[in-house]
Amino acid sequence: GRLLGRGLASAPPSLPPFDHQPRPYKGMLADEVLQKRKKFLGPSLFYYYQKPLNIVEGKMQYLYDEAGKRYLDAFAGIVTVSCGHCHPDVVNAVVEQTNLLQHTTTIYLHHAIVEFAEALASKMPGNLKVVYFVNSGTEANELAMLMARLYSGNLGMIALRNAYHGGSAGTIGLTALHTWKYPIPQGEINHVMNPDPYRGVFGSDAASYAREVQDHISYGSSGNVAGFIAETFQGVGGAVELAPGYLKLVYDIVRKAGGVCIADEVQSGFGRTGSHYWGFETQGVIPDIVTMAKGIGNGLPLGAVVTTPEIASVMSQKIQFNTFGGNPVCSAGGLAVLNVLDMEKRQSHCADVGSHLIGRLRTLQQKHDIIGDVRGRGLMLGVELVTDRKEKTPAKAETTVLFEKLKDLGVLVGKGGLHGNVFRIKPPMCFTKDDADFVVDALDYAISGL
Ligand code: PLP
Repeated sequence: GRLLGRGLASAPPSLPPFDHQPRPYKGMLADEVLQKRKKFLGPSLFYYYQKPLNIVEGKMQYLYDEAGKRYLDAFAGIVTVSCGHCHPDVVNAVVEQTNLLQHTTTIYLHHAIVEFAEALASKMPGNLKVVYFVNSGTEANELAMLMARLYSGNLGMIALRNAYHGGSAGTIGLTALHTWKYPIPQGEINHVMNPDPYRGVFGSDAASYAREVQDHISYGSSGNVAGFIAETFQGVGGAVELAPGYLKLVYDIVRKAGGVCIADEVQSGFGRTGSHYWGFETQGVIPDIVTMAKGIGNGLPLGAVVTTPEIASVMSQKIQFNTFGGNPVCSAGGLAVLNVLDMEKRQSHCADVGSHLIGRLRTLQQKHDIIGDVRGRGLMLGVELVTDRKEKTPAKAETTVLFEKLKDLGVLVGKGGLHGNVFRIKPPMCFTKDDADFVVDALDYAISGL
């Protein structure tokens, strides 16, 4: 091995073998795509890597760039590809439906939307049986907030600091990270402390965080609220698992104040956490409204809001219409996703591979001081990097260096957290133990070379 910064590191790890031959790519190359993107898609602060990757093909948990180089997608295209890139069952369902009838909307009947709604409702606990289809997580949260306000007769919403719920005029107010917020009116929305066991001032003490919610209602409102929304595992905010017991306490407080409880399952649903199908189940609660997107469609533009008949009844005052919501192609694809996740037993697979991965990451944490925290469940994990474990000083620059190195080694992870110092590992749910080992070996190698 070579002598690197912190001692001997062996040869760079190589990707696990994978039986797929990418097609030769003859299209536009990265430099030109980037140039045109800057010209025609506006200035963006948001692409990954100093030289962004030109990804041209995907197969299950792997992606290929223009040169045919293979990458392990440990971020699932932002936690979206649940079954795997181009999973054949999902592709076939979409192609078949597209050939038969590409579009109709809810002014006519179509079997796919009701089959999909019924299948989705069968996954929900309690009385959560009424489904609204939309096209994204933002739209789902926008609709959920509208329902909460109509049902409760109140306007005030409560969300968590560090939350990400979308970028539309309404949901930008729910989102609580300054990097994502444009300065527009935020509506009647208050943000309460994030029950973050690692960085939060009360550690894992759920009762203290919940008291702050009560204080907000008592001192910052007329005593009534429209609703409370939270991701049960914060995603963009840095893979934060809320302090155990928090949602139970807060849901009680919010309901007593006349509000409804919304769980944003855009990232944490569909068995990804391993222990449960829905993130909120890890907190032992049943929300009044659940929003979902991303993994629900394995990459198709699809979102949903599921609620109770009682709450849904308020939506009959006016027409609720969405041109593409529940269109036949997305419904057929979404139904295929639910079936694949069941047939391939992906929830228990996530539990299995996830506990192996988190175990190996915790061992790595003992070796490298820069790893301040390893957290999460199933395939919903976060690795927070710090330059000082006691002060928890975010290792911003180091994270950027490691992020690039991981890419060069063939691993794509996500970045998150207020300081951008959290690696998010949320791969397609077909990710294997060999893939997990490769991520850990690559991280070990990269950190050793810092
Ligand atoms: N909610 C959560 C938890 C998310 O992570 C996101 C997107 O990252 C959204 C909502 C918004 O979803 P979309 O980008 O599909 O509008």
